[in-house]
Formats: sequence, C-alpha cells, structure tokens
Amino acid sequence: LCVAEAYVKGPLLGRGGFGSVYAGTRRSDGLPVAIKYVSKRGTQRLRGRLPLEVALMTLVNSAPACPNVLQLLEWFDRPRRYTLILERPLPCQDLESFCEENGRLEESLAKKVLLQLITALKHCESRGVLHRDVKPENLLISTESHDIKLLDFGCGELLKDSAYKHFAGTLQYAPPEWFRQHRYHAGPATVWSVGVTLYNILCGCFPFRGALRVTSKSRLRFPRELSTECRQLIRWCLSAAASDRPSLDDIERHPWSLNTQLQLK
Ligand code: ADP
Ligand code: MG
Ligand code: MG
Repeated sequence: LCVAEAYVKGPLLGRGGFGSVYAGTRRSDGLPVAIKYVSKRGTQRLRGRLPLEVALMTLVNSAPACPNVLQLLEWFDRPRRYTLILERPLPCQDLESFCEENGRLEESLAKKVLLQLITALKHCESRGVLHRDVKPENLLISTESHDIKLLDFGCGELLKDSAYKHFAGTLQYAPPEWFRQHRYHAGPATVWSVGVTLYNILCGCFPFRGALRVTSKSRLRFPRELSTECRQLIRWCLSAAASDRPSLDDIERHPWSLNTQLQLK
C-alpha cells in the first residue's frame, strides 16, 4: 500500500525546520496518526539525516517502549520525499502552542512536564540515543491528562562518551560550551536544554539574551511567585560550566521534583 491508500490526509498540524506534519487517519481502522513529510531537496547532509531520524526512533521505540516518547508506526521512502507515520495522541498540542494559549505554566504542571521529560530522556539514553533538540515545540502535551511525549528525532545522534563537534538542534537551547569551544558532551548539553525549556514554560521567555555571554556571574531573573527550590533547580541546570550541571538523576531527586507541597518564596 502507498501512503494515500493506507491513510487519509487531514489538516496541517505544524511546520518545523525540515518538513510539514499533517493530521491523518488510518483507513483500515480509523486510528489517528500524524503524517510527517520530509522533502529530499536541500543539501546532501540534510538529506542524509532522515534515515537516521528513522533509525533513532526505531531504536528508542523498540519494546519495552516508553509512554513519554512518540511512536513511529511506519515510514515510506519516495523519490522526492520521505513520509513518516507517527502516533497522534488525542487531544494534544505541542507544548509551545499550549504555553502560548495558556500563558506561563503553574509550578505543579511544569513539574509534571519536567519529570515526564526526564523519563523520556533517560529512556533515550538507555537505548543509546541523543535527542539533541529538546524544546517545548518538540513536546506534545495531552490537553486532557497533561501527559507528555517527546518527538522529532531529526537532529538526534547516536550517544557517545566523547565530545560532539557538530551542532544540530536549536541555537536558543544550545549550551554555552558550544559557543565557546564548539564542542559539547551529551549529558550536560541535554540538561542545559532541559533548563532552558523549564525556564521557558515557567517564565514565558528565554533565560539569557545569548548563551554566548553566559558566565558563572550571569544572573537569572524569575517571576516573583516562583518558589526558591524551583529557582535553585533551574540555576543548577543552567550552570555556565558543563561539569557543574546536574545529571538527569540529580534532577529527579531534587527537592523541587520530589516535593509536591510548594514552598513559597
Ligand atoms: P520538524 O522536524 O520539522 O521540527 P516535527 O516533527 O517537530 O518537525 O513536527 C513539527 C510540529 O508538528 C510539532 O512541533 C507539532 O506541533 C506538530 N506535530 C508533529 N508530530 C505530531 C504528532 N504526532 N501529533 C501531533 N502534532 C504533531
Ligand atoms: Mg520539531
Ligand atoms: Mg526535526
């Protein structure tokens, strides 16, 4: 079966860096899916990335799968474009548009998002996959249960212990070591992007004008109502020196993550 025989194409859901994503339905049983087209036009390097996006999702999705990572159902290789068929949880939207509509998130909701994101990232790590593009736009949130799914492995890479020297992802979420030394290690770079994401959903803006100028003396501004523990966790994730940042386990064990009783400033 070709894509059109197997799926009905619906409205546009989103447009990212490298393609368009449409809502769709599987003809055989009405299952809601998302259809992501990735054009083969463009440079060889970009073209070369899609089979990797598929390979990384296949690695991450293999059983037992993680409920916080989006599933790839199947994919098609056509002369001019690739087509990915992804699961489409209902009702959901990406976290960036959710925040645009709902404003800054409550700490309790941001905490739920954070912990599910950490679960997703630990799962990726256990499968040897680095996502490299953690940001609200690449997270789906259920508008009912507020459960989270990580998506878009298009900037991902196989996990390695040595430094990465090639940047992929989104500059606003890139760690200062990338700007300073043009190299970064997977763990601390991921935690930096988690910190920017957490700051972003709680504060409604970016933490720094440019990560380039971030030093150990850089001050972060927070909304008045944000708890001390929450500020402390964000500051830790956004440590200027990569070696000062927490691990994913540290984030899970942080008092803010553990404590459901919010302490006021
Ligand atoms: P790109 O690689 O171009 O950034 P993404 O895979 O991130 O593409 O998808 C772009 C946007 O499309 C997402 O930010 C989201 O809004 C929407 N989207 C993608 N996949 C789904 C899905 N499975 N269900 C619902 N919306 C989706
Ligand atoms: Mg994306
Ligand atoms: Mg992508």
